[in-house]
Amino acid sequence: MKDRVLITGGTGLVGHGIRAVSHHYCSELDSEFIFISSKDYDLTSADDVQRMFEQIRPTKIVHLAACVGGLFKNMNQKVDMLEKNLIMNFNIVRGAHDFGVKRLIACLSTCVFPHHIPSYPVTEEMLHEGPPHHSNDAYAYAKRMLEVHCRAYRESCGDDFVCVSPTNIYGPHDNFDIEEGHVLPSLIHKCRLAKLASKPFVIRGTGTPLRQFIYSQDVAHLILRLLDLETCPPHVILSVPESHEVSIREAGVLITQGMNYENSIVLDSSYSDGQHKKTVSSSRIEQLFPDFQFTPLQQGLRETIQWFNDHYHDEARIGILPEETAENPTEDLAAPPPFSSSPLQSFWNRLRSLLAGAGTRDVSEKK
Ligand code: NAP
Ligand code: GDP
Repeated sequence: MKDRVLITGGTGLVGHGIRAVSHHYCSELDSEFIFISSKDYDLTSADDVQRMFEQIRPTKIVHLAACVGGLFKNMNQKVDMLEKNLIMNFNIVRGAHDFGVKRLIACLSTCVFPHHIPSYPVTEEMLHEGPPHHSNDAYAYAKRMLEVHCRAYRESCGDDFVCVSPTNIYGPHDNFDIEEGHVLPSLIHKCRLAKLASKPFVIRGTGTPLRQFIYSQDVAHLILRLLDLETCPPHVILSVPESHEVSIREAGVLITQGMNYENSIVLDSSYSDGQHKKTVSSSRIEQLFPDFQFTPLQQGLRETIQWFNDHYHDEARIGILPEETAENPTEDLAAPPPFSSSPLQSFWNRLRSLLAGAGTRDVSEKK
């Protein structure tokens, strides 16, 4: 029988990654992918979820849909991060059991692991071994309950419900909202605005935290490979190797290079750093797929920046712009700024960077 693979969150970052690569994994003869968004079914509504299962009758599910965002959304919207995710996840897991789904892959995140780790790297088994970082505890506990729920059905009913925990994901179709997005899409957007307004490019926090960034299409490939395995481990971290970890500052510099931004970079330490590091082990995923080649960060950023600039005025999720922004639709952001190498420009750049540095705050009450 033809598999009907339901992808919840099909309009999101990872959903689009799966759309881009799914043709590698199925011929139209043996499976069909169905991508849904909140406009099709609101997964926080039990009625909608019931209707969805009745209409789609999925045989496999990749559950990506979530209320998700970067550090500042996690800090500022805790009720939504907890309630929406708990309800959506409950509805999907229960529905998957009731409708006899053959395999469910549910998405957690490595940012939901414990804050204090006895020794790095973090492994799959450590998920519940201590509280998460305070900044994202609401999101973290909702995601942890998703793992408990899948495990309960696996152990009690033999359901093939498994979890994946990706690290910080980026790519085309990301959420580039400056306040709500994750760090890379927020910084790409801010770099564009800084370049356009000839203003400093502001990285929040100290720039010292470390992250393992993974390209959305790599996550998509790995999830679809797991979906095809005869036997899938109950929990797999999806991550680049530890050696690929970079600091936020390094990532910011790569973005300025990718966007040909040549003005000053400012670190605003009045903003929170969140968790300093969450270095995870990629050994389980590497053992499963030793041939897998991760997309290098520079290449993934190049593709993401290209997509963002191409779609700034149509598809890109850019959120509400800060009031002082004067986005100019006609300017070619790929071109270097005029007079960028003249002595006068260098003088102004230096002056700007000194002024910007002088403005950096360091206060104990972090935003
Ligand atoms: P995303 O780009 O923000 O997309 C979220 C998706 O969820 C959208 O398709 C959205 O549909 C859907 N959705 C939200 N609320 C819904 C509702 N009430 N009913 C139905 N659908 C709803 O998210 P993503 O970055 O692709 O994340 C995918 C998964 O990976 C999530 O489970 C997330 O927790 C996890 N994750 C993400 C990251 C990361 O860095 N992005 C890292 C680790 C783990 P609409 O388009 O209609 O709103
Ligand atoms: P996390 O990896 O789950 O902690 O979430 P993010 O993707 O939001 O990354 C947060 C880290 O990036 C923190 O150390 C922030 O201080 C830093 N950061 C620097 N600038 C920004 C920004 O403009 N937006 C976000 N979300 N984080 C930023």
